[in-house]
Amino acid sequence: MCSTPDAPYWAGKGFSYFCNKDCEYFPCHTVPEGEPFNCLFCYCPLYALGRNCGGNFTYLDNGIKDCSRCLLPHKKESYGYITERFQALTEAMRLLEQHRDEAQD
Ligand code: SF4
Repeated sequence: MCSTPDAPYWAGKGFSYFCNKDCEYFPCHTVPEGEPFNCLFCYCPLYALGRNCGGNFTYLDNGIKDCSRCLLPHKKESYGYITERFQALTEAMRLLEQHRDEAQD
C-alpha cells in the first residue's frame, strides 16, 4: 500500500490504532455509530499534564480532573498529537523530581 506524501508515518499502521470491542466497557464514551474508536490510549497518558493536556476536561469541586467528555485519546487521528506530547510529559516529570529534590535539601 502506498501512502500519500503528506500522510504521517503512523497513518494506517496497526501500532497507532486498535479497537477492542470485547472490552466490558466498550465504548467507554458515547460516539456516533460506526465512528472509529481508538482504545490504544485507554487511560490517557496526557492526564499527568493537568490543565495543559489539550483535551476537553473540567475540574470537579473536589479537585479531581474529569475527562468524561473528552474524546481526544479515542480519535483515530490523535496518535500524532498524543505521541508528540510525550516530551512535555518527560519535562513535567523532570520538574516534579527537581521540586522534590529541592524540597528535601
Ligand atoms: S481531558 Fe482528554 S486529553 Fe486531557 S487528560 Fe483527559 S482524556 Fe486526556
